[in-house]
Amino acid sequence: MENNVKAQISLLVQIQKMDLDRTQQKDEQDDFPEKLKEAEQPLMEARAVFTALKASLEQVDKVKKDKELELQIAEEKIPKLKSRLTDLKTNKEYHAHLQEIEAAEKDKDNIEEQLLILMEESDVMKKDLDLKASVMEAEEKKFYSEKKKLENGIHQISESAKRLEEEWQVLAGQIEKDLLEDYKRLYSSRKGLAVSPLKGNICSGCHFSLPPQLVAEVKKEEKIITCSYCHRMLYANLS
Ligand SMILES: [Zn+2]
Repeated sequence: MENNVKAQISLLVQIQKMDLDRTQQKDEQDDFPEKLKEAEQPLMEARAVFTALKASLEQVDKVKKDKELELQIAEEKIPKLKSRLTDLKTNKEYHAHLQEIEAAEKDKDNIEEQLLILMEESDVMKKDLDLKASVMEAEEKKFYSEKKKLENGIHQISESAKRLEEEWQVLAGQIEKDLLEDYKRLYSSRKGLAVSPLKGNICSGCHFSLPPQLVAEVKKEEKIITCSYCHRMLYANLS
């Protein structure tokens, strides 16, 4: 391997940088559905509020319609009762009938009052529903623009991931097979740091201080030296 070691280490360091980017890209791709869902949340909430209010309004309007019908019946009853007054023979009958008319009028007044309350309630709810509809529309716009942004972002990431993958394959082709396998194993078991630079006599991977003899061997670049503690591949200087 002679000074091929230096070149191989340099390739591994480049591959490692790419792998970190690839890991980050993959994380972003994995996060995409969750981010989309998160962006949609305010719209879902606005829709739920609107739908619930609409259902309540429909319910109030239904009660109101029934009440209108009830009022109509109560109103029609009064002239009918009044028209029968002339048919009555005795004073007693007459008074009893007047009381019946009075009760019918009271009944009608009560229904009118209830109807008025329902109408007010319905009006307030309609105004509120219009407001909720515009909130929902605004949330819709916001979500669709955010969705587009996220989709564009993820598209760019997948394009750049494709390019990176090609570059990775080219570099990997120049690395000795066994060494690449060692690297891959270390990369996944050592949290994305398989090739670790020395800082003085300290391994950047595990932060342990290494014996001078080992440090000297790393600097010689005659063979791949691994850290005595974490077993990462060590390098001193790439320039
Ligand atoms: Zn180490």
